[in-house]
Amino acid sequence: MASANTGKAPVSISMPDLPGVGSLISEDEPAPEAAPALASFGSEAAVDTDTDADQSVADAGEALRSRIMAQAESQKTQVEVKAAAAAAKAKADAVVKAEKEAEAKAAAAKKKAAEEAAAKVEAARLAELAKQYTLPTSSYTITSTFGQAGSLWSSGYHTGLDFAAPTGTLIKAVHTGTITEAGWAGAYGYRTILTLDDGTEIWFCHQSSISVSVGQKVATGDVIGRVGATGNVTGAHLHLEVHANGSADGIDPAAWLRSKGLNP
Ligand SMILES: [Zn+2]
Repeated sequence: MASANTGKAPVSISMPDLPGVGSLISEDEPAPEAAPALASFGSEAAVDTDTDADQSVADAGEALRSRIMAQAESQKTQVEVKAAAAAAKAKADAVVKAEKEAEAKAAAAKKKAAEEAAAKVEAARLAELAKQYTLPTSSYTITSTFGQAGSLWSSGYHTGLDFAAPTGTLIKAVHTGTITEAGWAGAYGYRTILTLDDGTEIWFCHQSSISVSVGQKVATGDVIGRVGATGNVTGAHLHLEVHANGSADGIDPAAWLRSKGLNP
C-alpha cells in the first residue's frame, strides 16, 4: 500500500498538475499578460469609475426625479392650497358683499321710511297751516304768474300773481295781521297792504273798493275789499304781491302760498 502509494503517488498526483504549471510557466508571456492585466486594471478602474459615475448619475437622476416629483407634488399642493384659499376668499367676499347689500338695502328702507315719515309730518304741518291761511279770492283764474317778462310792467317782469275775477269779487285777508296801507298807489291802483306778525307784507292791488283802514287788525278770511281794474291794468283782477320782511323785491306769491299749504 505504502510503496504503491509512494510509487504511484508522485506520478499520479504531480503529473496532472505539472503540465498545467509548466505550461503556465513555459508560456512566458508575462508582459502581454501583464499589459492586458494593467490595461484591464486601468480599464476596469475606468469602467469602475464610469460605473460609479453612472450609478451616481443614476442616483442623482433618481434624486432629481424624486425632487422634481416632490416639487411637483409640493407645487400641486401649493396650487390646491392657493385654490382653496381663493375659494375661501371668494366665499368670504361674497358674504361681505351680501352683508353690505343687505346693509344698503336696510339703510335705503330706513331712509325711505324716514322720508315718508318726514313727508307725513310736513303734510300735517301744511294742513294745520292751511287752516290758518286762505287764498285771497274764490272763483278766479290765474292769468299771470310771478317773474313773467313783459313790457306791461315797469320793472320789466311781473312782480306778483294775478287772480282774474269779475269786478266786485270779495278779497279776503290771507292770514291774521295788521293793515299798514290802504289807498291809491299809482300803477297799482287802489292797494291794501296787510303786514303779518312775521313782517311779511301782502299787497292787494287794482281794487275797486277798500273796506279796511290803516292800523286795523284782521283775521284770516276777513273781507278787506273787492276786485277791480284800477291802475295799470287791461282787465279786472287782483294783483297779489308778497314782500318778505319788508323787502322791496317781491317773492313768488304762488310759492309762498304753497308753503302755507295752499294751492293757488
Ligand atoms: Zn299782476
